[in-house]
Amino acid sequence: MYSQHVLTPGKEIRIGDISPDGKEFYADRKKAEKEFKDVRDELISLQNKFYADGRHKLLVVLQAMDAGGKDSTIRKVFKGVNPQGVAVASFKAPSKNELAHDFLWRIHQKVPPAGMIGVFNRSHYEDVLVVRVDQLVPEAVWRPRYQMINDFERLLTSTGTTILKFFLHISKDEQRQRFQDRLDDPEKHWKFDSADLEKRKKWETYQDAFEEMLNECTTEHAPWFVIPANQKWYRNLAITKAIVDTIKQIGPEYPPEESGLEQLVVE
Ligand code: ATP
Ligand code: MG
Repeated sequence: MYSQHVLTPGKEIRIGDISPDGKEFYADRKKAEKEFKDVRDELISLQNKFYADGRHKLLVVLQAMDAGGKDSTIRKVFKGVNPQGVAVASFKAPSKNELAHDFLWRIHQKVPPAGMIGVFNRSHYEDVLVVRVDQLVPEAVWRPRYQMINDFERLLTSTGTTILKFFLHISKDEQRQRFQDRLDDPEKHWKFDSADLEKRKKWETYQDAFEEMLNECTTEHAPWFVIPANQKWYRNLAITKAIVDTIKQIGPEYPPEESGLEQLVVE
């Protein structure tokens, strides 16, 4: 189901050709919600094994337009998963110190260590997205970053990290609706940032930047998924399923137990 959303290296996509509408991929919302709960239960027990095994690392990267659902994806997909085994890193505009280093410096410090699932809420991809759109550096600086990112991700995958990259694909109208909801609900006002409206004016430029990022940085070792994200229930199911199947493929095992445990009695 989610496998139809993974991009193929060398096969260029046009983002406008991909539907953000989950209903086109899954008709029955109730069924999807039920399935999601079951798959998330599976994730909870698989993560336990993954942590106990302690040999593998999993990195989940989330990118989206504003209001694309990164925060709520993290909240829903990882609900009930042992917080000790999951580390979320949110990347905001870099500090002066971070800017004084290469763009991957702050990222590398947050990659998951063995046994952990790392979740990136925004990531190194901002350095070819907002940085490009807002012309924070010239093209001669950001363009070579695609290759640098591919090489960096290759380093990670060659040293025991599995990388899952999800682009949460929403329509411009869905973004409008979500911004409006934030304005209409006082409990959501804290999420509203008027700078987001400025970014919305550059919607097309952002889409172009996302499109090129998806095409340039879909590799054999770390392909992108374009997840139809207008419907949260579909987005949650597709992402959780992709994570669960990936962990199954990694095949974590409980470490070998000490011998003679059967004879032990705790007094
Ligand atoms: P979000 O917008 O992700 O839900 P938030 O509203 O809590 O999170 P913001 O203060 O909006 O946090 O921080 C994210 C901002 O940081 C975004 O506008 C993003 O474009 C910017 N940002 C992230 N990485 C970089 C980068 N490398 N260079 C410049 N800006 C960046
Ligand atoms: Mg923001």
